[in-house]
Amino acid sequence: MTDLSPQAQVESITKAFEQDFERFARFIDDPSALGLEAAIAQQHAVVELRTRYLGKKSALAATKKLIGRVAPEERAAFGQLVQATEAKLIQSLDQAEQSLKTYIENERTARESIDVTLPGRRPRSGHRHPITLLRERLEDVFVALGYAIEDGREIETDFYNFDALNIPLNHPARAWQDTFYTTKGFALRSQTSTVQIHAMQRRGVPVRMIAPGRVFRRDTPDPTHNPMFFQVEGLCVDRGITLAHLKGTVAEFVRRMFGPDTVTRFRPSYFPFTEPSAEFDFSCFKCKGSGCRICKNSGWIELGGSGMVHPNVLRALGIDPQEYSGFAFGLGIDRMCALMYELDDIRLLFENDVRFLEKFE
Ligand SMILES: [Zn+2]
Repeated sequence: MTDLSPQAQVESITKAFEQDFERFARFIDDPSALGLEAAIAQQHAVVELRTRYLGKKSALAATKKLIGRVAPEERAAFGQLVQATEAKLIQSLDQAEQSLKTYIENERTARESIDVTLPGRRPRSGHRHPITLLRERLEDVFVALGYAIEDGREIETDFYNFDALNIPLNHPARAWQDTFYTTKGFALRSQTSTVQIHAMQRRGVPVRMIAPGRVFRRDTPDPTHNPMFFQVEGLCVDRGITLAHLKGTVAEFVRRMFGPDTVTRFRPSYFPFTEPSAEFDFSCFKCKGSGCRICKNSGWIELGGSGMVHPNVLRALGIDPQEYSGFAFGLGIDRMCALMYELDDIRLLFENDVRFLEKFE
């Protein structure tokens, strides 16, 4: 370059700049095609180009020192050439810089802006599941009657699930088709009665408790069955407890749940862990006994099973059945829930369809 005349040097700088500036010229009128990130990168490139062509160490700055080498009669013209070239470069770079700056600022404002006139998004608040609502009502009734609430484990050993409940080895409930076995000797509990055993071991007697919770049975889901469902189990053991206490307790419970006029009836039945055993029904809360769709025109609704604690259950826990006696009862929470809300299909309670669950606030 130094071999060239000063004028030729300035011309070659202009040429080189024009080549470098070409890629900016493409978007100078409308940088929006670049997008924000690319525009920011181009902004840095413009700064770089400015330093390269107009900085103190630039070729153009060097040409200013050549004025002395130019013939005196050409000096003025050369000085003007350098100045004009410099002005042209500055103008081009300023234009590119301004165009990018305006676009970047607008784009940032657009991205960050919030339309304060738009309505807010309402946070969706959850609420309790219908089974939870019913379980809490049940708990309130029994707590008021002086019962403690017990929680239990959902995987049980054969001892708690069967042996301690007087369920013999050959009982059908122990069969594979009824119980979910996990590993040998362990199964998902098939009834909440297991909690009775734990409670008596831990608290000793006398005891008054209820145990609401999940139980599992191998059932194919249909409108009235589900392999997982909720039960509540009640137990009262003390000196001198009789069948009259059982009947009185169950009758009081249904009155508090379904109204003071509700009538209870007991039907003889069989359970391995109670003797004698009875199933209990209550007068239909809808038709008050005259017959309707809910009670299948019988006027009665089956609610659960009950009985006097089998002496073998007490013996398995080291409690003397001559000294202590007690009663136990159990009922299905989901079944009761389906009845009370007139659900045709119990599976609705487990499908977690929010449109359905929202109706129970
Ligand atoms: Zn009815």
